[in-house]
Amino acid sequence: MRCEKCGNDYPSHYYFKAESVCRECFDKMTPEEQAEAKKPPKIQSMTTTAFTIDGYRVVRSLGVVRGITVRSRSVFGTIGASLQTLVGGNISLFSELCEETRAEAFEMMVRHALDIGANAVIGVRYDATEIMQGVTEVLCYGTAAVVEPVDG
Ligand SMILES: [Zn+2]
Repeated sequence: MRCEKCGNDYPSHYYFKAESVCRECFDKMTPEEQAEAKKPPKIQSMTTTAFTIDGYRVVRSLGVVRGITVRSRSVFGTIGASLQTLVGGNISLFSELCEETRAEAFEMMVRHALDIGANAVIGVRYDATEIMQGVTEVLCYGTAAVVEPVDG
């Protein structure tokens, strides 16, 4: 993991405040620069559930990458959602939690892909398992790939 600003190498994302900027450099940046640095990596637009990306061809496949998050519902969230079940309709408390958990798993997968030098992830899938009452594991996986634009 290399910081884009100072060029220092770090063993993991733990030392990073944004995608490619270390904690130290991030603290020295202006608020505008920080906002820019915090934007999700470009690879997110290069992820697809299909096995091809229009206009690009897969040059190299780097194998499966994945992200896993485990979430438990808070007691209060569960009570709120139980009330919502009585009223009916979309159970927003749960869908929100699922959305967040998925996004987290997705981001981890993307980081993993970037770490091994991919610029795209194809065949992305989600999988969720309830490990025990109220505890859900969300898995996001796909095939990390190096793609390049098809010319012409
Ligand atoms: Zn730095």
